[in-house]
Amino acid sequence: MSDGDCLFCRIVARELPAEVVLDRDEVLAFRDVNPQAPTHVLVIPKQHIASLEAVAEHHGELLAALVAAVNQVARADGVAGGFRVVTNIGRAAGQSVDHLHLHVLGGRPMSWPPG
Ligand code: AMP
Repeated sequence: MSDGDCLFCRIVARELPAEVVLDRDEVLAFRDVNPQAPTHVLVIPKQHIASLEAVAEHHGELLAALVAAVNQVARADGVAGGFRVVTNIGRAAGQSVDHLHLHVLGGRPMSWPPG
């Protein structure tokens, strides 16, 4: 299922350009257009899911595929063993694109708490 008005669905459909780093059956990963770290990749399900809050038990295999993709991206970018995975849920948390995406951030020191 895709949403024609959704920016990331349009990237999945290749209607918009992106620097894709991984393309699997159910998962796509591409570099963030406004990187916040030397490695900043977005890992998304190809199907439209609004956020992590919309994930249900039947998405178990998809979640496993997303996490496997995160780890593969981290290894490929040389940040395995020291990277951060973030997903924002809702405007209050900073979500600006309503299609589930895991930010994979690495390549610089990460402070805590996040802003
Ligand atoms: P969030 O604010 O957590 O919803 O994250 C959305 C992210 O998508 C931001 O980090 C944006 O920089 C990024 N973004 C927006 N448009 C694009 C695009 N066309 N290609 C790649 N990344 C994008």
